[in-house]
Amino acid sequence: DGPPLRIDGLVVDLPGPRGTRVRVVDGVSFDVPRATTVGLIGESGSGKTMTAQAILGLPPEGATLSGRLLWHGEDLIAADPPRRRAVRGREIAMIFQDPLAALNPTQRIGRQVGEIPRRDRLPRAEVSRRVVELLDRAGVPEPKRRMRAYPHELSGGLRQRAMIAVALAGKPSLLLADEPTTALDVTVQSRILRLLADIQETEGLSMLLVSHDLRVVSHVAERVVVMYAGRVCERGPARDVLRRPAHPYTAALVRSVPAVRTRTALADPLPGAPATPANRPAGCAFHPRCPLARARCRGEVPAVREVAPGRWSACHFAQEVLGP
Ligand code: SF4
Repeated sequence: DGPPLRIDGLVVDLPGPRGTRVRVVDGVSFDVPRATTVGLIGESGSGKTMTAQAILGLPPEGATLSGRLLWHGEDLIAADPPRRRAVRGREIAMIFQDPLAALNPTQRIGRQVGEIPRRDRLPRAEVSRRVVELLDRAGVPEPKRRMRAYPHELSGGLRQRAMIAVALAGKPSLLLADEPTTALDVTVQSRILRLLADIQETEGLSMLLVSHDLRVVSHVAERVVVMYAGRVCERGPARDVLRRPAHPYTAALVRSVPAVRTRTALADPLPGAPATPANRPAGCAFHPRCPLARARCRGEVPAVREVAPGRWSACHFAQEVLGP
C-alpha cells in the first residue's frame, strides 16, 4: 500500500485585504513514507506552516482548502470535523515550538500526559504506569517526581520533552513537528533532535519536521521538501538535495549555512527579500533573486518535474543547476 500521508495538489487560500483571496499554498504535493523523516524547509512566507496546519485540520479562520490530503488513502479535506479531530492528536500527533502555549499551565504534567490513557478508560494504576513510561521515553529524568510538576516548574528542554510525551500518548503513526527546537539553546536543541530521531526510528514512526533551519533538517531528515512562496521548489533524498541541489533556491539556502557545506566556509547570505504569497512575482516566484533567471522564468511558472531519479525540481533550468 501507499505512503501513510500523501499531499496531492494542496491549495490553501486565505482572506486578503479588500475582499481578495491570497493563495498561501499553491499546489503542493509530496509524500511522507512509512518510518521516514521528511524535512519541510522554507523561509517565513513559504507556506510550510500553513501546509502543516492543513494536515492537522487546523487552518486559520476563513481559509479554504482544495486538493487532497490522503491519510492512509482517506482524504482528510473531505472528512467531517469529528473524523479530523479523531485523527489529530492520535494517529497524527504534533510537537510545537512553544510547549508553554501547547501545555495547560494549570495542570500537572502527569495529568496532561495521562489524558489519552484516561480517555481510553485504563485503570488508574495503569494510567500512572503509562505516564511514567511515556515521560521516561521522552527522556524526562525522575519521571515519578516530574509528573507532579506544573509546566512552569520545568526548564524549556524538559517542557519540550513533556510535550513529546503527550504526543506519544496516543501511539501516533505520524509525528508532525513544527520548529520543535527553535526556542531552545543549541545544546538542548541537538539533544531534543537526537531524541526525536531515536523515537522515530525505534517506534517506526513517520515524521514531518517543519523548519526554517537547514541544519536542523539536515541532521535528522532522510528526505526534504523545499518550499518558496507557497510552492514546492525541490524535493528528494536529503543527502542528494543538500549536496547537489537541483534548484537555485536550494543552492542559495545551502550556501547561506556554513555548517552544511563545510565547517569552515563562510556563509553567503541569500540575496534579496523572500517573495510572499500576497506579492508573488509572475512566472517563477524566485526569479527576482535567481542568478540564472532569464526571460522564460518571468513568464512561465515552472512545473515540478523529475530531473534525475527520485529528484524533483521546479526550475526550467534544473539540469544546468545539477551540472554534468
Ligand atoms: Fe531561476 Fe528560472 Fe529556475 Fe526560477 S525557473 S529558479 S528563475 S532559473
